[in-house]
Amino acid sequence: MTHPHQLHATRAAGSLNTARTHLDNAVTAEANARRAEARTIAAAGAIQAWRPMPGPSGQGGHGDLVGRTAVSTLEPEFRDGRLARLTTSTTATLTWLADNLDGRSTEASFGMDPLARIQALTTRLRPSTARHLTLWLDEADTRIRDTLHLDPAGQALTGIRCPRCARRKLTAHTTGPRTTWTVTCTTTCLCTGPNCPCTMPTRVADIPHIWGPDHPLTATA
Ligand SMILES: [Zn+2]
Ligand SMILES: [Zn+2]
Repeated sequence: MTHPHQLHATRAAGSLNTARTHLDNAVTAEANARRAEARTIAAAGAIQAWRPMPGPSGQGGHGDLVGRTAVSTLEPEFRDGRLARLTTSTTATLTWLADNLDGRSTEASFGMDPLARIQALTTRLRPSTARHLTLWLDEADTRIRDTLHLDPAGQALTGIRCPRCARRKLTAHTTGPRTTWTVTCTTTCLCTGPNCPCTMPTRVADIPHIWGPDHPLTATA
């Protein structure tokens, strides 16, 4: 039986996966802009160098083909921007987490994205470990979404009431494979334990409600 903490880790990893895809695209755009800027600056410097030489011959002026070729083949260097640095720090955090969860980088995991390694084991973690992992993943997800002005993950499940609080505030998390789908209520709708009417298969007090891929609620997503 999947523990709700494991489901939350699965949900958080899926959400972060989507956020990182958006971040990768933004980093590409950022790099293109910075490269273009560096080229403009380099070209401006080169134009200075092409000023006509004083003297009657005028050699080395605008018609200097050697100088022009050098500028078009040498790419100016540019440093990582804010988004590239966010990618680097997020990946470092995920690598550290993955190494701790699957027992250091093994040969099998070498070259694998650290978040993919984490996603492969969320439902096998001890519930207390899954809870801590969720905190890390949610924090990384929030940092990226805040930076890029992205909405929180998930789609509103309109019209369906929460079996516990009866509000129509359910959210479906269905961007990943079917086996990772979940439905959540609000973060303040907490389970009350074994007698909670929420119909979660494993009911644990104080965990925000979450229903897994096998639950009928998820089938409505
Ligand atoms: Zn609820
Ligand atoms: Zn409950």
